[in-house]
Parts: sequence; structure tokens; C-alpha cells
Amino acid sequence: MAYDHLLSPITIGDLTLRNRVVMGSMHTGLEDHVRDIPRLSAYFAERARGGVGLIVTGGYAPNKRGWLKPLAAEMSSRLHAARHREVTAAVHEEGGAIALQVLHAGRYAYVPWSVSASAIKAPINPFKPHALSTKGVESTVSDFARSIALARKAGYDAVEIMGSEGYLINQFLAERTNQRTDRWGGTASNRQRFPVEIVRRARELVGADFPIMFRLSLIDLVEGGQTWEETIDLAYALQDAGVSVLNTGIGWHEARVPTIITQVPRGAWLDFTARLRSEVSVPVCASNRINTPELADAAIAEGKADLVSMARPLLADPEFVAKAAQDRADEINTCIGCNQACLDHAFSNKAASCLVNPRACRETTLVLSPVRTRKRVAVVGAGPAGLSAAVSAAERGLEVTLFEKGEEIGGQFRLAMAVPGKEDFTDTLRYFGRRLEVLGVDVRLKTEATLADLQQYDDVIVATGVAPRVPSLDGVDLPGVVSYADVLSGRVDPGQRVAVIGAGGIGVDVSTWLTQEHPETLDEWMEHWGVGDPAYHRGGLVEPAPRTPARHVTLLQRKTTPIGIGLGKTSGWAHRARLKQEAVRMVSGAAYEGIEAGPEGGLVVRYRVDGEPQTLSVDTVVLCAGQESVRDLWVERAGWHLIGGADVAAELDAKRAIEQGTRVAAAL
Ligand code: NAP
Ligand code: SF4
Repeated sequence: MAYDHLLSPITIGDLTLRNRVVMGSMHTGLEDHVRDIPRLSAYFAERARGGVGLIVTGGYAPNKRGWLKPLAAEMSSRLHAARHREVTAAVHEEGGAIALQVLHAGRYAYVPWSVSASAIKAPINPFKPHALSTKGVESTVSDFARSIALARKAGYDAVEIMGSEGYLINQFLAERTNQRTDRWGGTASNRQRFPVEIVRRARELVGADFPIMFRLSLIDLVEGGQTWEETIDLAYALQDAGVSVLNTGIGWHEARVPTIITQVPRGAWLDFTARLRSEVSVPVCASNRINTPELADAAIAEGKADLVSMARPLLADPEFVAKAAQDRADEINTCIGCNQACLDHAFSNKAASCLVNPRACRETTLVLSPVRTRKRVAVVGAGPAGLSAAVSAAERGLEVTLFEKGEEIGGQFRLAMAVPGKEDFTDTLRYFGRRLEVLGVDVRLKTEATLADLQQYDDVIVATGVAPRVPSLDGVDLPGVVSYADVLSGRVDPGQRVAVIGAGGIGVDVSTWLTQEHPETLDEWMEHWGVGDPAYHRGGLVEPAPRTPARHVTLLQRKTTPIGIGLGKTSGWAHRARLKQEAVRMVSGAAYEGIEAGPEGGLVVRYRVDGEPQTLSVDTVVLCAGQESVRDLWVERAGWHLIGGADVAAELDAKRAIEQGTRVAAAL
């Protein structure tokens, strides 16, 4: 059997899981409203049908003070438990198992009545928490235990206590946030009393065999975080108190080290998991930046973990496990760690979905139902929009022909995967390529479709994409002025001093490409972000090692706002930090005047800032000034559909393109 370590069963307490894949907890927004319970049930049921061993829900608060935001999900009454029966039954009907995660947000709660171990404000939340009184701590422990008992009544097969990522339990554990002087603060064992008591009290209520998982913060990545010794002592104490599995979390939400986005090397945290596993006797679950069955299987085969938690990869492909088991791993729609439709949505109060799988969390509303009459569909353009339209239409049973004038599929996405830290994007094209093959789509590369070619089709989807915008600026036609496509495709080799005009997502990506000479190893990545061994450095933080940029880059924009402010909510900060590490000079409010030939074959960019004339001597100017739609083929007529960048180029991203492609195919 392929992936036989990952796909072998495991017993935890009174629960035998069919394999070791855990769909990790992820807040989707569907948890927060009773009206969304049918959608939540369908979302989980689809993953259970796809073979996952154990699903963990998003976080449910044990009481109102633990809400993540006003009216957030809570499990604190029999009524709540009764409502959840629909969710648990849906998963059980598909042969799956499901755990409820109990999460108290503590000082991360976006409410003015938030509480924490001490009244210390989080840097990522405007609300300052109130310190829980000693009585308040005791009643919070009781609320956690009651919530866990209610989960069992609701039909959950297990629970997970959220003790990582900087939420309330983590706030009790770290000196950084716990400055109490009662029995719940001070020494490490006093700080650990809160989670240990929760587990002990919950165990009393649910009996010896009900599986209780605890998500432990393996490495806090914040100043004043826990030491490795404290973490291991906590693991022992939790084990003694009755925890069945130790899951692992990495970094607090306020940490300034990225932990899950694309640029974090795959499997980056596995060695820390292995160290924990070597200390304890309960099973240990690995998490964060594990997104393929190969990596997950190897983690178990090499004894680094007993289970592997994958939250976003199961959002991206509900059939992840089934495909792995059927030796169809090359058909897995791999999570690319972009956060654009999952965490960025969750942290912006929007329902989560997935960039590469827009059906995620929309299982009941975006349905690719089989067609009754077999129609012929032409898709023109094999960028993200065209690819998703072609694959989705073929999945419905339509006869699809895909025209692409280039030599390969991928469009703008092919350029994105050349950016350092975005190598995972290659997997999306592998997925689309393989699905086109399996579904029998007639792919015609190096073929420019004509109106005559398209006459014979019942539906025509025009997804001809975008072309880089050339700003009307004196000197843009000089040699040495190139487009981002020239750079990322490798057609030109930029000089040592480069000006990048336009600081949107692509300007930032191109700056990263220009400054990084070779792919980073995991050790280099850790050094540059200042990740050290928590056995020697509290919280696992050390002074970041400086980077040596391969080129001197100046990144310019006309807007006066800080550069990169429009990037993803949960990843933009890391891209901006990276530019600083690479000493990229950032200029906002640049009023361009033109580009001129400079001495020794160079170029001079002239612009003003606050009316003051500026000059910049460079070897190369890279234009990253957005895109314009390419729609020469487009004709408004029945059965014709315009999607992706060909439809609207402004701020087009792959999320919108793939979703639009799927929606148009669903409606054919
Ligand atoms: P974009 O985000 O629209 O940025 C284009 C940039 O060009 C703007 O910063 C704009 O800034 C500048 N610009 C526009 N017209 C100009 C002109 N006539 N002359 C000079 N400058 C001009 O587009 P993009 O960077 O090409 O990215 C395309 C899409 O891909 C976007 O939706 C982007 O979010 C997405 N993407 C996202 C990421 C990510 O990390 N999340 C990465 C890559 C791409 P000023 O007007 O201020 O000069
Ligand atoms: Fe993964 Fe991006 Fe989808 Fe989130 S939106 S699950 S990070 S591919």
C-alpha cells in the first residue's frame, strides 16, 4: 500500500482512527452562526467521505469571555450540544470521526470584555484584557471541563484543547503574559497549573477513555515565551493528568516569524516534534507546513510523529486521503500556503474558502452537478481561470477543448512559481495538468483559437488573461527597461542595481526574486528569521542573521501609503519584513518624470517626492505596473463567457480567477 505508515490505523483512548491523517482545526466562520450548521456539516462530511482519519472543528469557546469576536462560536450549554448532533452525525454517516476544539481566545478576543492571565495588551489587538481573578480562573477551568463534557454529549469522538498559538492557555504558560502572584502564576509549575487542571477536571467528567488531545505550543517564537525545559515539563504534567494525544502548535499569532505561509520550508518544524515525541509516551501529532502525503508518511516512518495534522491541505482537497490511498497522489490539489482565501478571510470576518478549491466551505452552494446533456465547451486560455473552468466543466461530464497559444499551461501562475518561496505553486499546475489528462480534456497547446474554430462549440469560455501594463512614461522603450514577465521567465538577466516600478503583489515578488540569489536551505531560513533552539533561547528566538542581497533594489510606487499595505492580511507583514531584511529601498509617493539613458549603459529614473526632484541610477528598470485585459477574441453572444483577467484585469488574483472559472463551469 502507498503511504502505509500514514494510512495505518491508530487507537487513542476508546477511538480507533482509520488512518493517521488529522484534519487540523481551522476557523472557517461557519461555526459562528446556527444557520450555517447544515453548511458546516456538509463541509466536514465531504472530508470524512474523502477518508480523513480525524477531523478537528474550528475553535469553540467554553464561555462568553472566551469568544474570538462578538457572538463567536461557543460550547457551553445543552442547547449548543444538541445543535452539534447534526454535525457529528453527518461525519459518522461517512465513516469519519470528529473532535471538537475548545478554544478560549484570552487577550486575542476582539471584544472589550476580554480576559487574560494578566492585564497585558496583545500587540495585534486594540483591546486590553482584564486579569482574571483567582475565582475567575477557577470558574474558567470549570467551563473548559464542562465544554468538553458537552462535546461528548454532542456526539463528538474526541476533543482538542487549544493550548498554543498564543491563546488564553498559552498566555497562562508564558512569563510574557502571566505576571500573576497567586497559585496560577510565578513559577513555571504555577503557570502550568491552568492547563493541567483543565485536563484533570475534564478527565473526571468524561471518564478514562474519551480521547482528549492537547495542542501544545512547541516553540512560542515570542520574547518571554517558554523554554524547552518548561515545554517538556508541561508535556509530562499533561500526560499524567490524562491527555491522550499531544498535538503541536508553532508560534503565537503575534510572533514575527512566519510559521505556515508558503515561504516557510515544508516540514520546517518536524525536528521539534520529533524531540517532543522522544520524551513522552502518548502519541504526538505533527503540524504546520506539511502538505503532501509523501512528507506526512515520512514523518511517521522516521518516527518523528504518530499522527499528522493538516488543516489547509484538507480544505484544498477533501479527497486528499482517498487519492493518496488509491495511488493517485498526483491528482491531489495541494495547498500552496497562500492564506489568501482561508486565514485572510477568517481574520477579516469573511467565510473561509480556498484559493485552489473555491468549493471549500461552499459545498452546498457551489455544486458541480453532473450534466444531463453532453455539450461541447471550448475554453480559450490555460491560465488559472481557464484551467479551473476546463477542469470543473469536465468534472461535470461536459466535452471540453482547451486552447492555449503558449507552449505550457499556467499563464501568470507560471511566473509566480518562479518567485523564491512560492515553489509550491508548481503543484497547482501539476494538479491541473494531471486532472486535464485524467478527465480527457482535449488540450491544444501552441494553438491560437480563431472565431472560426469556436463556431462548433455550444459554450465558449474566454480566459485569455492579461498583458503587463506599459506605463506611458518617457524612456520606457529604452534597452534595460523590462517587464516583470521578462524577469520571472528568465528571458532577461537584470543588472546589479534595479528600480522596480509598481509595488503591488508582483512588484514585491519581483523584489524578492531580485535580491535572493539561490534557494534557501532550512537552516538558512531559520537563521534569517531568528529561530533558535528553545533549549538555549527562551521562546526559540535569536538575533536574526543579516541577509546579503544579490542586488540593490529600489521599489517605487505613486501611492503615499506604506509599501505592501494591500498584501494579504496574514502574510503581507512577512513579505514586508523580508523586503527589509533584503535592504530593499522603498519609495512611496513617487511622481515619475521619466527614464533616461545614463552613463556606462545604465539608466536614470527621474521622479519627485513631495515636489522634490530625485534621481536614481540603475542598470535595469523592471515594470510591475499592473496588467491590462487581453480580449481580442471576445464577442458578446449567447453561450459566450468572459472570465479571469480577460474580464477584469485590475487587481486580478488567482483567487478570483479560479473561483470565476469554477462558477462559470458550474452554471453551464
Ligand atoms: P497591482 O497589485 O494592481 O499593482 C500594480 C502596481 O502598479 C500598483 O502598485 C500601482 O501603484 C502601479 N501602477 C499602476 N498603474 C501604473 C502606471 N500607469 N504607472 C506606474 N505605476 C502604475 O498588480 P500586480 O502587482 O501586477 O499584481 C496583480 C495581482 O496579483 C494583484 O491582485 C495582486 O494582489 C496579486 N498578487 C498577489 C500577491 C501576494 O503576495 N498576495 C503576489 C503577486 C500578485 P501606484 O499606482 O501607487 O504606483
Ligand atoms: Fe491553502 Fe491557500 Fe487554500 Fe488556504 S487558500 S487552504 S493556504 S491553498
